[in-house]
Amino acid sequence: MHRWRVHKFGGSSVADAACMQRVADIVERETSARAGVVLSASRGVTDALLALITQAERQQPVDDAVHALRERHVEMARTLIPGTSADAYTEVLDRDCQDITGILHAVHLTRSASSAVRDLVAGFGEIWSTRLFARYLAARGRRPGRVIWVDARDVVRVDWSALGPSVRWDESRANALQIIPGDVDATLVITGFIARTADGLQTTLGRNGSDFSASIFGDLLDAEEIVIWTDVDGVLSADPRRVPDARVIDSLSYHEAMELAYFGAKVIHPQTMAPAVEKRIPIWIRNTFAPDKAGSLICESPNSAHPVKGITSIDGIALVNVEGAGMIGVPGTAQRLFGALREDGISVILISQGSSEHSICFAIPHSESERTARTVRHAFHAELNGGQIQNVDVIRGCSILSVVGDGMAGTPGIAAQVFGSLGASGVNVRAIAQGSSERNISVVIDERQTTRALRSVHAGFYLSPHTISVGIIGPGAVGSVLLDQLASQSARLTRDFHIDLRLRGVMTRRAMALCDSAIPFDGWRDALKDGKAPDMLRFEDHVNAEHLPHAVILDCSASDDVAEQYPRWLGAGIHVVTPNKRANSGPLELYDDLHESRRAAGSHYLYEATVGAGLPIIQTLRDLRETGDEIRRIEGILSGTLAYLFNVWDGKQSFSEVVRVAKANGYTEPDPRDDLSGTDVARKLVILGREMGLRLELSGVELEGLIPPSLSACDLDEFMNRLTELDAPMLKRLEAAHAKGKVLRYVAALDAASSRATVGLVELERTHPFANINLTDNIVRFVTSRYDRNPLVVQGPGAGPAVTAGGVFADLLRVCAYLGAKL
Ligand code: ADP
Ligand code: ASP
Ligand code: MG
Repeated sequence: MHRWRVHKFGGSSVADAACMQRVADIVERETSARAGVVLSASRGVTDALLALITQAERQQPVDDAVHALRERHVEMARTLIPGTSADAYTEVLDRDCQDITGILHAVHLTRSASSAVRDLVAGFGEIWSTRLFARYLAARGRRPGRVIWVDARDVVRVDWSALGPSVRWDESRANALQIIPGDVDATLVITGFIARTADGLQTTLGRNGSDFSASIFGDLLDAEEIVIWTDVDGVLSADPRRVPDARVIDSLSYHEAMELAYFGAKVIHPQTMAPAVEKRIPIWIRNTFAPDKAGSLICESPNSAHPVKGITSIDGIALVNVEGAGMIGVPGTAQRLFGALREDGISVILISQGSSEHSICFAIPHSESERTARTVRHAFHAELNGGQIQNVDVIRGCSILSVVGDGMAGTPGIAAQVFGSLGASGVNVRAIAQGSSERNISVVIDERQTTRALRSVHAGFYLSPHTISVGIIGPGAVGSVLLDQLASQSARLTRDFHIDLRLRGVMTRRAMALCDSAIPFDGWRDALKDGKAPDMLRFEDHVNAEHLPHAVILDCSASDDVAEQYPRWLGAGIHVVTPNKRANSGPLELYDDLHESRRAAGSHYLYEATVGAGLPIIQTLRDLRETGDEIRRIEGILSGTLAYLFNVWDGKQSFSEVVRVAKANGYTEPDPRDDLSGTDVARKLVILGREMGLRLELSGVELEGLIPPSLSACDLDEFMNRLTELDAPMLKRLEAAHAKGKVLRYVAALDAASSRATVGLVELERTHPFANINLTDNIVRFVTSRYDRNPLVVQGPGAGPAVTAGGVFADLLRVCAYLGAKL
């Protein structure tokens, strides 16, 4: 004979006809020929039934609401069990609705409902869902043996006390024996939630009681296993509605599950465990909507490496603090305090006593705070009057955050990790309690900070410390290549270095796409297609997510507007990586501002790609300065375009012709004036100058542009047509140089002693290093006190999307390294 296996489906699993079909599929996949199927009421039905009572008490009309409940069930029946079976179901349903209407009428008249009446009405949801499902499952006819509808009120007997319902096992077992066939194949469809008291009155097992029903029947049927089917993949490391990154816990002990449930993990109910634990019945938590997933196993000795299993919270808490020197060394104070509370039926959730015994503090549900304060003041009336106890303080608006896991016992550093995370996210801890079992560390915090606290503690235990929320602005020529590079490397970075980069926002001038988890690095174009209107504040808020340890914005735009945001971002702790020259070459005020914000918040700002694309120019300069070298002079060719023009142009063709060819080959900006004006080079020089310690503004650069004023304002077509106007003056310069045996180069130079910054055409010997570089190379020479006669030279390709993106990527990894990644 097969052993029984018990499945329980929660309200969301039986919400409508489609759900019931899914449930039937799952039940039919059960290989044991003996299955118990405990069902909740369809989602929201219990709430609706309880609301009816409240409405009747307030003498509000209820008929429409009763009718709506009826319709909902009739419709399900019509879909699932067409024909006469649906009629038969509806007939009984109608009788129930009449009964309910009658009861509500009485409540309306008396304006109050006893708990027996409340329980009677609340329990109809389970009766309706199971009756329907039993008929439906029988009609499908795919289970071996009979389908039997079991009204749990005929089986389960409980006594209610302040601690909740307790099962009268002997009576319940005897009832079960009578109702449940001994040794035949059968599928029992059992009402969850409802039961009877010893004197035969209908009662419930409390809200969410169907889980408890499942384990009671697990015990009564001596089940091999209990499966709780719900709408999430298992027991998660935190409430998924508050912590988007919550993970499924593969296996956990009964103790852990009980602790999690007690401290607020709503997926399981604390009482559920008791009968199962007693009989060592394994409990699975699985997803009705994803039955192929393994789910979580709750059992005696789970096999799991994680010391911390879950992080939970309970809101609506008040903290009571009893304080007084008079308690020191007085035996029995705590006993008196908690004795008084027990007598008044106030249940205390958490207790913490300072070792000085100078104060005791404890947490209770917010709703009990008035009563508790009264009880405590009454119990210590004499001490309060005598001054031995100074204060009974009640702090409202608190919540409890608990970190739970068997493995915490004997694993040092767990508490440090918890408090480190809380501290880093600015959460104030009001009280601390660690159970001596070391299975739980609980802290009382301000209720408004709960989500923040949950997310940061969760990230501390469950995410790689190098999980980074990434936002990118302006995915153009450089940005899109950068995203391609990230797409090809992100798996390796995660595998080898635990760097988990999550692209959570992409913004262009026209659209913005935000994603809670991550936009695939190769899926950003699609994401933008369904994007929203760009909104800078929303973008940065989203990227700077509370639940992820770090945030980086990659600014690949060339925009002043974006650059102006850096101080705010850096001040908020968002790291910034950019090839955008605007911030560093803009007004000194902005520059000072952003560095001040960066220093204050400890955030990182990296911009290697602003000068020389991927070449290590800024990093080199920084290394020199930080190691105490003194920079005397920096000079170089900082524009790939201008390098090319003067490398190629030997006077045999016209200058305009060389420019035209360069433009056609994509070596210039779309408007070549952007290069020829020299402004871009001047910006780079300002960046280097400031890096060198000079207080330089763009206007302070002595700039010789190559565009006469007459050509700087016209449109591009006209400019290209009149390009030849450059030829004569340029040729004159070239011939003058050639006459001295020299060449022309467009050179930028900084001199520390004179603070002079110059950008323009210079004549150089043919043997000068700047006269002998590859087509579009950049070259920079650093003359320093160490590199004096023989300057340090950095040379190589200094333009182009691939190398520029590579420079940004390298900076991003540098941020990861600063954050602790071991690259
Ligand atoms: P059912 O209707 O199946 O009884 P419940 O709503 O009672 O389902 O419980 C499942 C819900 O519990 C999930 O949808 C989830 O939002 C919530 N929940 C809270 N904490 C956790 C947790 N730690 N793990 C899983 N789910 C949790
Ligand atoms: N239907 C009951 C409730 O909503 C029991 C349950 O779903 O577990 O509380
Ligand atoms: Mg539930």
